[in-house]
Amino acid sequence: MLRIVAIYEQLGGGARRRKRGEQYSWFLDELPEFRRDVLESLRQPLEEGAVTIARAKRTLVFPARCRLVAAMNPCPCGYLTDPKGRCRCPPAKVAAYLSKLSGPLLDRIDLHVDVPAVPFDVIGRAPEGESSAQIRARVLKAQAWRRKRGQQHSNAQLRSKEHCQRILRLPGPRR
Ligand SMILES: [Zn+2]
Repeated sequence: MLRIVAIYEQLGGGARRRKRGEQYSWFLDELPEFRRDVLESLRQPLEEGAVTIARAKRTLVFPARCRLVAAMNPCPCGYLTDPKGRCRCPPAKVAAYLSKLSGPLLDRIDLHVDVPAVPFDVIGRAPEGESSAQIRARVLKAQAWRRKRGQQHSNAQLRSKEHCQRILRLPGPRR
């Protein structure tokens, strides 16, 4: 138990008491800089929304639903994909850096987005995007639509194909 608490402390979770049903959002910047055992410990809460602790005669399951958002560079210096070729990282160093992230952990992250560097002058000319209020309104509308169709949980919480088909009323496989 102490090890689990220590691992989540390293993630910056703190020791705040959770309210029932509350969901953590973790933003892990520089993902490969975290210890590998810490990163691997995220697999169970990401997959099952729970942490299981087994001791001599007891097994305890704690709710641990979380939303993980992470960022990382393509290499230790951050310039691997730079068009000006500024990266000086040896291939072995890049491989070691990327190997901190296991396939099973990456499989549990639903969305991966490559974001190339944008020159400063281009950023200044970029059109303004949506405001947070506009995005919030769109999210609330989607949640209301979900509840209207009888779905209590978000799509991210749908676990099995059967669950998805029952909740979303998708047709089964063709025979
Ligand atoms: Zn580099």
